[in-house]
Amino acid sequence: MTAARRASLHTLGCRLNQAETAVLADSLSKRGYEIVPMGEPTDVVIVNSCSVTSEAEADCRRLVRAVMRRDPATLVAITGCYAQVGVATLQKLDGIDLIVGTEDKQRIPELLEEEHGKRSEPRVVRNRPGKETFEQNGTGLYLQQTRANLKIQDGCDVGCSFCIIPQTRGRARSRQFEDVVREARGLLQQGHRELVITGVNLGSYQDGDRNFVDLLGALDVLPGLQRLRISSIEPSTVTNQLLEFMASHRRVCRYLHIPIQSGCSETLARMRRPTSRQELEDVFARVQRILPEATLGTDVMVGFPGEDDAAFVRTQELITNAGFSYLHVFSYSPRPGTRATRLLDQVPRPVVKERSRKLHEIDRRLRETWGAAVVGNQVDVLLEERKPEGHWVGLTDQFHRVAVAEQANAGTTPLASNQLVRVRIVDRQPRFLWSELV
Ligand code: SF4
Repeated sequence: MTAARRASLHTLGCRLNQAETAVLADSLSKRGYEIVPMGEPTDVVIVNSCSVTSEAEADCRRLVRAVMRRDPATLVAITGCYAQVGVATLQKLDGIDLIVGTEDKQRIPELLEEEHGKRSEPRVVRNRPGKETFEQNGTGLYLQQTRANLKIQDGCDVGCSFCIIPQTRGRARSRQFEDVVREARGLLQQGHRELVITGVNLGSYQDGDRNFVDLLGALDVLPGLQRLRISSIEPSTVTNQLLEFMASHRRVCRYLHIPIQSGCSETLARMRRPTSRQELEDVFARVQRILPEATLGTDVMVGFPGEDDAAFVRTQELITNAGFSYLHVFSYSPRPGTRATRLLDQVPRPVVKERSRKLHEIDRRLRETWGAAVVGNQVDVLLEERKPEGHWVGLTDQFHRVAVAEQANAGTTPLASNQLVRVRIVDRQPRFLWSELV
């Protein structure tokens, strides 16, 4: 009997990539592959890459070099956004056998069947993104996560001038409503308790006359569901219908990640963002009115061409007033192939660094306040993993990361992954909120 081929999968970038890696792992395992953690001896390494920043691309190249140092005989396949737009660079890197664009990502198991050893030149399989008919999943492995990512759409029609995603993933298209619900039901039957809705531009979901909120309504009633979490959502799609649905359906997490990128109207216009400063203020005023208890996070970019001191002050003002709990701060770097590379008036690197430092400092203070506000409260935590130090960590519906000490439960049922436990938050520390079982 021949041993099963082993495959390691590694995801860079967004939650959508994570969802797609999970589907890929599932189809490989159905073809008889053993899925092993990255770093263990393996026959195939698949990197689901990201191209959103130059750093993400560099991470992919570093990973390939590390694999080649460890085991030069391993077959290496690169897929994802970098494989879509960075073929010329990847072709120059030693050790890559397959470069598979976003459109053909789910064909990798079939493409691997045609590989019989290391290649001297990589085979490139790349088509224009945007025509993919969505795979029907239903019984995915989903990498044994307690939270399962549920992909509902792909692509984006917005065309922000700094963003490569419309080129890597193509135009917006939604999965069929019934397929999504069927997959969600399968995930819940496997024991997942939390579904995380993922896509490039979630709020643009539309299948016939059914929109994103209709889909949430159909998912919310599925048996076994404890939590439904919406991942990053564009401000232009945060409607009152959505906020009111979230406010009236307790299984939908009180959590919204709404990227602003900037708080300055002129900068937003140069970025070709679909929302002005005034519209952003309106979105956050509605969130505060309809869903005041929600954790609110955002992405903000510093150093976009033409961002002067006044524009940066406008961004800081918006951040102060919007009610954010945390920020993800990005420094602009030109992505070849995007419109923004043609903009003059680049911001000097030391200025970008200083603005980034200031926003990271604001982020630190926001997180402190966000965590401190729940000390003393009772919350439900979905346990994810046991740390070597002996405590469990998990998430609340508001996205607080909470540590639960195992000994606090001595003499009763042991804690376990995927268990929902009620705790009281007793302390805030930089990485976790500490809690005790109640
Ligand atoms: S909304 Fe803008 S930033 Fe987001 S994926 Fe679409 S083009 Fe990119």
